[in-house]
Amino acid sequence: MTYDENNIFAKILRGEISCKKIYEDEFVLSFFDINPQKKIHALVIPKGKYINLDDFACKASEKEIVGLIKGLYTVAQKLNISSNTGKGYRALANISENGGQEVPHLHFHLFGGEKIGKMVE
Ligand code: 5GP
Repeated sequence: MTYDENNIFAKILRGEISCKKIYEDEFVLSFFDINPQKKIHALVIPKGKYINLDDFACKASEKEIVGLIKGLYTVAQKLNISSNTGKGYRALANISENGGQEVPHLHFHLFGGEKIGKMVE
């Protein structure tokens, strides 16, 4: 499978579609999900063109991998949901068809601001 340059997150990264930005650095962009499923529902995406977590694991550089993991933590801190606030959250990545992935650019969902509930419906 090749990366689809016209997926919605690629357009957001190119600035062709707007988003409610939470955080950005060299490696990641984070913004609020357009259709929030919990009180806080953020998305964190790598800036590189990776279809899903498997693609990222195979092709990303070590700097990009560290950058994404640190980015998740930074966003959780910014949203005041990280574990050191005593609250916590859920990070989730849907991967390909059975995982229910709709947008083919790797993204982590961060759910917080309330009890997140059952892990799998
Ligand atoms: P997936 O099912 O691929 O894991 O999640 C895709 C997520 O992207 C969904 O939660 C959906 O609401 C969100 N989404 C789709 N289009 C847009 C958009 O244009 N802007 C934002 N901010 N989120 C989007």
